[in-house]
Amino acid sequence: MSDTNTIVTVTGASGFVGSWIVCQLLEKGYRVRGTVRGAPDAEKYAFLRDLDGADEGLELVQGELLTAGSYDEAMEGADYCIHTASPYALDVDDPKTDLVDPAVQGTKNVLEAAKKGGVRRVVLTSSMAAITDEPGGDEVLTEEVWNEKSSLGRNPYYYSKTMAERAAWDFAEDCETFDLVVINPFLIVGPSLTPSLNTSNEIFVNLLDGEFPGIIRLTWGMVDVRDVARAHILAMENDGASGRHLCVHHSIDMRELVELLHELGYGDDYSLPGLNLANPIGDFAVKLFSYFESAGTGSYLRTHVGRVPRFDDSKIRAELGLEYLPLQETIGDTLADLKHHGHLPG
Ligand code: NAP
Repeated sequence: MSDTNTIVTVTGASGFVGSWIVCQLLEKGYRVRGTVRGAPDAEKYAFLRDLDGADEGLELVQGELLTAGSYDEAMEGADYCIHTASPYALDVDDPKTDLVDPAVQGTKNVLEAAKKGGVRRVVLTSSMAAITDEPGGDEVLTEEVWNEKSSLGRNPYYYSKTMAERAAWDFAEDCETFDLVVINPFLIVGPSLTPSLNTSNEIFVNLLDGEFPGIIRLTWGMVDVRDVARAHILAMENDGASGRHLCVHHSIDMRELVELLHELGYGDDYSLPGLNLANPIGDFAVKLFSYFESAGTGSYLRTHVGRVPRFDDSKIRAELGLEYLPLQETIGDTLADLKHHGHLPG
């Protein structure tokens, strides 16, 4: 479907996920208003202005999550809002002011502006962080599951996403002007339109740079950023879409990922981990070591090492018809792109 009269406001247009959403919307012929924190004509947003179709289809508007009324202009007369903007970092100085306040108050500000502006549907980028911060055991994660363990002291990024999604559902319950659809992606990886290095793609850089002392028992549910962007647009376009949607393709553990990186030819020139710590002794060592790490990384390690996420993503495939790119393609494209942006030598 291509529709040159439909206006979609995308918050966080400069981000890893937001910029792919902008790119795919422009490809489909939508008129896009992307919100950015800095001056819209700043050089750092040139990569957005250079996207195909941006000349006619893209307008950049300033927006700051913590400033009330900041999104009013971006939302005025828009048909849809895709709200991706939120701080994404495991380690911050002050979890409340750096993560929770912008995520929660920012979501309320964006929804307030969407309501005033006449938006008819908001698609919110939530996260698996709002599902759980401690996967594992026999539990199969579904849209019914809510993270009830995170706090300012424990996995604060997860807490910020949980509180923000809850605030959005509370707001939407009393709002008659728009309906809310939520996407809950797991770890998003893939090629980046923005030159900056996303926290999730950093895993590849850390693995190849020799930051891990050995192969430890960490397992990630991964999804390609291009699939995540498609999921948001499908959620916007599909009248029947409702509720939350787990968005995750593969579960892959560190051993499998390291093997795949060797297969893709990244064994010789980089420092991939070799020592086998993927056993209960390794788990114990990682937990001990985690207390010497920064608070965010430490609590992430303690709640994730030795744990395997199991999930049921059938809703997003059945309701939205989402199909995922093959993992090999995602990882191959990610690594080529990390080199292209200078995040990896070679
Ligand atoms: P990102 O590249 O860091 O993008 C975050 C975006 O939010 C950026 O555009 C950033 O603007 C904006 N932002 C942050 N704080 C802001 C503030 N105070 N006011 C206005 N804008 C602000 O991260 P991402 O991976 O694309 O994340 C996008 C969304 O996906 C987030 O909601 C994140 O929680 C969610 N998510 C990410 C993952 C993942 O693995 N990457 C997984 C699940 C969910 P600047 O460019 O100015 O910093």
